[in-house]
Amino acid sequence: MSPEFSLIDRFFHGETPSVTLGVGDDAALVPVTMGMDIAVSTDTLVAGRHFFPDADPYGIGWKTLAVNLSDMAAMGAKPRWALLAITLPDADEAWLASFSQGLHACAKAYHTELIGGDTTGGPLTLTVTILGEVPTDEALRRDLAQEGDDIWVSGWLGEAALGLRALMGKIDLPQDALSICRAALERPVPRVELGLALRGVAHAAIDISDGLIADLGHVLERSNTGASLHFDWLPAHPTLAHFLPEPWAKDCLLAGGDDYELCFTAAASRQGEIQAIADRLGIKLTRVGTIEALPGLHLYDHTGNAMPITKGGYDHFA
Ligand code: ADP
Ligand code: MG
Repeated sequence: MSPEFSLIDRFFHGETPSVTLGVGDDAALVPVTMGMDIAVSTDTLVAGRHFFPDADPYGIGWKTLAVNLSDMAAMGAKPRWALLAITLPDADEAWLASFSQGLHACAKAYHTELIGGDTTGGPLTLTVTILGEVPTDEALRRDLAQEGDDIWVSGWLGEAALGLRALMGKIDLPQDALSICRAALERPVPRVELGLALRGVAHAAIDISDGLIADLGHVLERSNTGASLHFDWLPAHPTLAHFLPEPWAKDCLLAGGDDYELCFTAAASRQGEIQAIADRLGIKLTRVGTIEALPGLHLYDHTGNAMPITKGGYDHFA
């Protein structure tokens, strides 16, 4: 067996009971269910750009899959199958063992099977392609926001950006706050159950990977609508809230990457149902604004005054 095959066999050949054919042939074979669309998406993580090359490989494995699961969540799709294209500088077995453990743990937690991939040599790059299922016409698309919809956000915003800032040595955090923010950065929790629960309830959804302003902006653009947001309604994690007088902290909240929370819109008449979903899943859901007919994004402070925003987020030069 060539070294490449033994690596695949040892680290990436898991159980795949739900497919007709998994790892080992020229292609995997997946069954197709009547009435379902296949949601398919791909995301790449590059060492030095999306993660520190010396970061804990278990976390890298977890995150490589988690960011793709987050895309399934944002579509209201049930994740089913994943393919991993991995480019490795060398066959470091300890690294691969830990990486694959993190990846398999994330796959198991969200009932996703690794059914194939590709293995090559080169600068460390990790690409997952993910497939999920969603009933035809029930996907939570970016282009379905409607005038008058409430805008909601799950969880807390800005923790991962705060963690990154701390790891880069730009701020000091107490130990407990640092571990919360590091976990948000290195082991993001994809909101898969929430995405499924929002089918038939939410209109539009997106996962927040590039910051609320940028990602909500995609929804507005695709839906041809505008929005007003209330800064003091935004769910800033208490650790971050402490820093909020600082312009960089506002950036973490509005434009911080790697949150992987969902931002979704729903008719105001669905508020009770959405609160019930939050209670049932134990996920904090916060109403942060309203979809408006006129294109443009407006941000208001607690006194109702407009706050400046740039394309990236909060304009601290204004
Ligand atoms: P091909 O020559 O057709 O590209 P490969 O030698 O790349 O085939 O892969 C052989 C089998 O191993 C395929 O079924 C492929 O999907 C699987 N595979 C390769 N790399 C990975 C990986 N990193 N993770 C999971 N499966 C993999
Ligand atoms: Mg190949």
